[in-house]
Amino acid sequence: MGSDYYELLGVTRDASTDELKKAYRKLALKYHPDRNPDDADAEEKFKEVSNAFQVLSDPEKRSIYDRYGAEGLSGQGGFSGFSDFNDIFSSLSSMFGDVFGFGGFGGRSQRVQRGADIEADLELTFRDAVDGVRKEVEVRRRVPCSECSGSGAAPGTSPTNCPTCHGKGQVVHGQGHFIVSSTCPTCRGAGVKITDPCKKCRGRGLELEEDKLTVTVPAGVEDGQTLRISGKGEVPPGGGIPGNLYVNLHVEEHESLVRKGADLYVEVPITYPMAVLGGQVTVPGLDGDIDVEVARGTQSGDVKVLRAAGIARLDGRGRGDQLVRFVLEVPKDVSKRSQELLRELAEEMGQPVTKRSGFFERLQKKKARKR
Ligand SMILES: [Zn+2]
Ligand SMILES: [Zn+2]
Repeated sequence: MGSDYYELLGVTRDASTDELKKAYRKLALKYHPDRNPDDADAEEKFKEVSNAFQVLSDPEKRSIYDRYGAEGLSGQGGFSGFSDFNDIFSSLSSMFGDVFGFGGFGGRSQRVQRGADIEADLELTFRDAVDGVRKEVEVRRRVPCSECSGSGAAPGTSPTNCPTCHGKGQVVHGQGHFIVSSTCPTCRGAGVKITDPCKKCRGRGLELEEDKLTVTVPAGVEDGQTLRISGKGEVPPGGGIPGNLYVNLHVEEHESLVRKGADLYVEVPITYPMAVLGGQVTVPGLDGDIDVEVARGTQSGDVKVLRAAGIARLDGRGRGDQLVRFVLEVPKDVSKRSQELLRELAEEMGQPVTKRSGFFERLQKKKARKR
């Protein structure tokens, strides 16, 4: 499966979901095994286009594929490709319903059971979220008990039919003209009675399994977002499609940069002389410090936008910006010499500071007392 997925489906790299569906439907009909019996090439082609579609129709997988190629997906916990037709059909029917109108294939007329979804949490550093990362995540899911193989009955014994419903799981009540059936109260629908419950699972037939999966976190994710890893949830007890794993992302904050989406925000104090005369300040950036020009006559609160100095967007559409906000900082303690210069400056500006001798000194003494 070395071919490019977009080429396989005959669509452009920016194809919409609708375009993908259309292209896939056409190819799936063309190569469908029912229409090409005993044609190994068509079979292979059918698998390939199905696989390509399965990836590109999922925004997360598509984003990973666009960045890392098929390799990025093959190692991921959530993706293992299709191994057989039943995989493809169950996946498609869960995606589209029976839109193809293919009917059954290989005795698939039965409704497919879907397992429960599970959740896990993943802590990421600020940098991991920016760059993307492959990380191990711990998951817990219920699996059939290893001691009783899921029957719930102690090894060597087997469940007997429920005496209330005789194994049907439902009880039937006649009510006038109506016949109402409801879940059996004795066995709660299981249809069986366990006289000697398995000790390991206490008759439940399930046990918790702990597992570690490596997931690929795409670059640009944010705190509070959730990754869906399909097929890594619980397997239904009677077999069927496994549920999904949802990984909740928790991203650490940066020590000085504030992130909003793909943009970064930082506040920088500047002095009055710098605000008036202009100059240069150093601000923290994503990849280390950045020298930023301060324009002459900068006002407190003025914002300078550093284009594309932000974070790469999750959808692959470029980078965000970094916004630098200048805040005029007024010093609380200044030297005698500074005071003289400031008074002189005030006079020069035609706005002399009210002559209250020793104003600054008194202020400073007051502060010193407070400390
Ligand atoms: Zn058991
Ligand atoms: Zn029963």
